[in-house]
Amino acid sequence: MADDFAQQVKQQADIVKIIGEYVRLKKAGAQNYSGLCPFHKEKTPSFSVHATRQFFNCFGCHEHGDVFTFIQKIENVGFSEAVRTVAQKCGIPLPKRDFSSPEEAAEHRQRGKLLDLHEAATVWFEEQLRSAEGALAREYLTGRGLSADGVAKFRIGFAPDNFHALRERLQGMADPVALRLSGLFSWKEQEDGSPGPMYARFRKRIMFPIANETGRVIAFTARTLETGEKAGPKYLNSPETPLYSKSQVLFNLDKARQAIRQADGALLVEGQMDCISVFLAGIPNVIATSGTAFTEAQVRLLRRYAGRVVVNFDPDTAGANAAEKSIALLTEEGFEVRVLTLEGGLDPDRYVRERGAKAYAEALRAAPPYQDYLIERARQMFPSRNPKSKTEALNFLLPHIRRIPSRIARDAFANDAAQALGIDSALVRAELKDAAARRRDSLVPHRHPLTRAEQILLQAFSGPRSSEAYLVAEGAWHQHELEFAAVRSDFREIVECLRARPDGADPLVSISDEEQRRILAEIFLSIHDMDPQPEEVEAAVLAIRCTALEQEQRRLRAAIDQAERASNLDEALRLTRESQDVTRRLRELD
Ligand SMILES: [Zn+2]
Repeated sequence: MADDFAQQVKQQADIVKIIGEYVRLKKAGAQNYSGLCPFHKEKTPSFSVHATRQFFNCFGCHEHGDVFTFIQKIENVGFSEAVRTVAQKCGIPLPKRDFSSPEEAAEHRQRGKLLDLHEAATVWFEEQLRSAEGALAREYLTGRGLSADGVAKFRIGFAPDNFHALRERLQGMADPVALRLSGLFSWKEQEDGSPGPMYARFRKRIMFPIANETGRVIAFTARTLETGEKAGPKYLNSPETPLYSKSQVLFNLDKARQAIRQADGALLVEGQMDCISVFLAGIPNVIATSGTAFTEAQVRLLRRYAGRVVVNFDPDTAGANAAEKSIALLTEEGFEVRVLTLEGGLDPDRYVRERGAKAYAEALRAAPPYQDYLIERARQMFPSRNPKSKTEALNFLLPHIRRIPSRIARDAFANDAAQALGIDSALVRAELKDAAARRRDSLVPHRHPLTRAEQILLQAFSGPRSSEAYLVAEGAWHQHELEFAAVRSDFREIVECLRARPDGADPLVSISDEEQRRILAEIFLSIHDMDPQPEEVEAAVLAIRCTALEQEQRRLRAAIDQAERASNLDEALRLTRESQDVTRRLRELD
């Protein structure tokens, strides 16, 4: 996409308004807004949006950038897609799309065609549910407690027992290649190896559309209405297509994501029907894995919306195993996980129908932390109290304990486990020692903040060339170049980037180093004036020169010491004269 279009969009877009669609922002200063960071879990706001400079920054997780970066991160899209999204939100007409290659253009056309086919198929399935043939399906849905509203909301449909009707409906929309790619049809291979005629993949089934994050239908899950031998699998999914990859989609994320973000938490269930019932019962932050354990891709997808998850899988063995795998993936990603096990061995769908929405919401609130759930499960799996059984139970828990990033939380879990299993807690801690030692290596180095004076100087260099603050700073930089050479290198590098940029260019864009860009962004947010006063800049220059000279003085004194110890008197004398010169310059500054 052309850069000038991106520039045009950026100028017209209001970052506060656009981020405001995702984050509840409060005014926090003349040009600042703050709110809870959507990229990490927090209880007090450390996420800021700067209205004048049009960027955001999080002091907690250090995510930062402009309006496009925000959309890229939150919607998980590339740069051009982010530009298009922002343009659409602002009502700016999109230019014709440029593609880097004919293949990319063809791929894009194909995706568009597949999305159109899915939309048309969804409409057709909905129509079929209302038809005479759909009576049995309607009866089934009513029996499962679904109202007409619920059916409409989830766009549930019906695929009739007909091999050709859908094909006829979609015929004019796409070529046979696209129809075969859509996953809506099956065919038999012929004797010469070529594909035979297409027929409907889904027949006599209730159709649940699966949407992507933006609500476009990309696949279906279909539940059979047939009983007996002819029925085939109870649930039949779309195959993997260019639109749909099962491991990367979370069912209902399109409807739930806003609520998930607001609650900083999601409720995770197994099946689509569970998800639909719970959602319609008034719990809006529920999503489903579609009958399998969580995948890493799904965890990353969810990470963008929340830091907490309640897992409520079916109470059978398959459900418990899936829950366990999901817990492992989620805790590793730093999620706070609780596990809900419903009374009476009910799944979420039946629980909501039999006990009501209120009882379910209460059970949800009371769901224990996953540690308690796992300890309980270990005791159920290895119930006898002999040493062998205890060891097995401990071995079941240890990988989960080791996975916890925080040492305090790890120790707490280890103690609880030891107590519950009747094992000496020292023994459990010994087993954990290895893991702890491995973690110590990965400590993040401490970062010194810039001084106030350094911050003011950077602020001055970020302004327009003609501003007084900039002129004072630039003059000082020229005049005292040698002294400034002694100040910390990252500060100097930022100054050089700012001075080298074209007049009027965005200061943050001119810095390529991620860490340095973050430092500058934090300064913009902590100092509220756009341009500092010239006197402030002068005072800052003085303070920086002092610090630089004092540092130089310390370096010289150490060098003199060394020269004297080495009996290198000529060198010691030369250094002493230099040191006296520094002392004199320092006195002048005072
Ligand atoms: Zn953050």
